[in-house]
Parts: sequence; C-alpha cells; structure tokens
Amino acid sequence: MISVRDGQAQILARIGAPLPSELSPLTRALGRVLAEDFAAPFDVPPADNSAVDGYAVASTDIPARGTREVSVVADLAAGSVFESVLAPGQALRIMTGAPMPAGADTVYPQEVVERDGDRVRIGPLERGVNVRRAGEDVAMGKTVIEGGSVLRPQEIGLLASLGAWQVAVHGRPRVALMSTGDEVAEPGTPRRPGQIYDANRFTLRTSIEQCGGDVSDLGIVPDVRDTLRAALQDAARGDVVVTSGGVSVGVYDLVKDVLQELGTIDFWQVAMQPGRPFAVGRIGGALFFGLPGNPVASLLSFMLFVRPALYKLAGRRRLFPATWQARALEPMRKKPGRTEYKRGILAFRDGDWEVCTTGPQGSGILYSMVAGNCFVVLEEARGDVAVGERVTVEPFTTLL
Ligand code: AMP
Ligand code: MG
Repeated sequence: MISVRDGQAQILARIGAPLPSELSPLTRALGRVLAEDFAAPFDVPPADNSAVDGYAVASTDIPARGTREVSVVADLAAGSVFESVLAPGQALRIMTGAPMPAGADTVYPQEVVERDGDRVRIGPLERGVNVRRAGEDVAMGKTVIEGGSVLRPQEIGLLASLGAWQVAVHGRPRVALMSTGDEVAEPGTPRRPGQIYDANRFTLRTSIEQCGGDVSDLGIVPDVRDTLRAALQDAARGDVVVTSGGVSVGVYDLVKDVLQELGTIDFWQVAMQPGRPFAVGRIGGALFFGLPGNPVASLLSFMLFVRPALYKLAGRRRLFPATWQARALEPMRKKPGRTEYKRGILAFRDGDWEVCTTGPQGSGILYSMVAGNCFVVLEEARGDVAVGERVTVEPFTTLL
C-alpha cells in the first residue's frame, strides 16, 4: 500500500522540466500558462492624469478661505495633451483620464465650482486631490504576472494594456486517452447485453481539456493483447498516456504484460477509497497512467495523480487545490488506514461551512459527483466522524 501523498510525490518526481515555451497571440492565450515573469514595460498610468471631469489648477491658486476666480484657458479631452504650461491664475478644463498639464497639480470636480463664461469660481480644497499619479497602478519594471500563472481574462487584459499582443506560454501537454474493456460500448451505438456505455473517456477527456491538455482520443480498446499493444504504441507519441480500466487485481495481466514489453510499469495499491488500484509507468517518452475502471475511482484518481502531473508539465506554479474545513451534518463511517473521498454537498450557512454526503458512495456511482459539489476528505488515520466534527472539504470547482 502507498499513501496518496507518497504517490503524488513519486509521480511529480518523475517529471523533469515543464514543456518548452512558445509564443501565443493574446487572443488565443486563455487558459495557457505564462512561461516567464512579465514585468511592466512602462508606468501605468503612463503620466499623472485627472481622476474626474473638472478643472486643473496649481495648488498655489487654491484659496485658504472664501473663493477666487481663475480663467479657463482651454478644454482638454482624454487622449489629448496640453502643450504649454498653466500660468498662475489659470485653469484648464480637463476630462477624466486626460494628462495633467504642466503647472497644475490639483483638480476641482466640475460639481464644486461655478463656471461663468471663461472663468470659474473655486473654493478651499485639499492640495493635490483628484490626480492619479504616473505609475500608481503599476510601476515600470514591476512583475505583474508571475511565470507559471494561468492566463484568465484579467491577465490577458492587463497584458494588452501593457502593449503586449503575444506572450510566451508553455506548450500544452499532448495526452493520448483510451478506455479498455470488452464490456465498454461507445455512446450513440447499440449496446450488446452485458455492455455498459463508456463514461470514463468522457469525464477524462473533458478533465484533461480543463487542465489545458491537448487530447488525442484513441477510443475503446478491447481486452485483446495485439490491439492493446498497437494502441499503446500509437499513444506513446504524446507526452502522457491515460487509460482507464484493466488495472484491478486479477484483470491487469494484459496491461502489465504489454507495458512491460513496451516500457516500464508499476502497479500501486493506493491507500484510498474509492480508487485503490492504479498504474504508473513510461512508454517511450510518454508518462503512462492506468486509472481504475469504476467511474468515480477513475475521475478521483485523475484529480489526485494525473492533474498535478499535467499541471507540472504545463509549467503551472500551483499544483494542488485549496481545501478547507467544514462541519459534518451527518455521521460518516470511516476505516482508518486509508484516505476516503466522500462526495459531499457543501454550503455556507449561519456563518459556517457545512457539509453532508450525497448518499450512496459506491465507486461506480458517478451520479454522486453530479449531486455533489465537493469531496469530503477523511485523512488516513481518521476513524468514524460524528455529527458536528470538522472535516476537510475540497470543492470540485477548485481554487488554485
Ligand atoms: P476494471 O478496472 O476494468 O475491472 O473495471 C472496473 C469496473 O469499471 C467494471 O465494472 C467496469 O465495467 C467499469 N468500467 C471500466 N471502464 C469503464 C468506462 N470506460 N466507463 C464506465 N465504466 C467502466
Ligand atoms: Mg476492464
């Protein structure tokens, strides 16, 4: 038996450097991983500018009490620049975002002044207000996005605002995927008696895509030695090979024999529930992951072992999701000596996180993951959980 943590560490240790970087246009960079730190090439905003629509003046013209009139010498729109210097007694009509004219350091919002022809009457005001300073949002040279960050719309917008139109991102892991088993049928085709429709290739394909992987779908491979060998040889052209089924005790001989011929393979009994059998190895240059056949076990094993591996290959900085504690709303049976991942429904109520399970927890009941929104992670040493005890929860929609 191997613990989940040790398994994860061993898998990550098998992966060296992340995939090399390539240039991507910003418009195609959503979800890609930035290959190096990105430093601001200039100050943002690039120059001192007005935070309001109003009148720019020199603070030396601000009356300490009462009011004073200054003359409006020009109108300045956002995107234009006042070419001369504001003299004492002068004001510039200025729009939000327009650069501050030389000679001015304070802006009166238009609502607080009285305009009369080309003159405005101004009162006491704090010196320097309503001006956004050059470099106030981002100073030139500051790292605004660290290498290893996933690009979301906000990162892409920030890069654009800093003048970038393309970025260096890590390559996407190429993942070959197949289901194994004579009993597995393709959805959309007739099903013979005793057959089940393939679930795993669909949960796994979309999971790989969510992780930024590039899937090559090799379909359903029957439990036939030569067919399996050919499929695995074909799969080995990518970075990673993922199979489901055929790794549980008693059935793994086929995968084991073929993998031992083509590469290397270790069969693990992971101290976890669901999903104990798991295979990891190498075929040519590709990492091999053999996931269990039961749909929940398969998806959970993917999340625990394959996802961090794909993230590391893709150059991501954070490999594991955030977890937190919640109050158990029901008693839970737990066998010490293995980590159990129950499917739960997590909610925030009356100032606390609360969780209950989704009901039957069989490792083939994929519906439990549809009904739920998190795993309740019961650590290896833990025994039964009583109502009100705190348990670790890991939301399916992960914060990274
Ligand atoms: P195995 O690990 O191949 O013994 O499979 C364990 C269980 O998972 C069996 O009940 C299989 O029928 C089922 N199973 C295997 N592959 C799939 C799949 N792709 N989709 C849904 N169930 C599967
Ligand atoms: Mg099978």
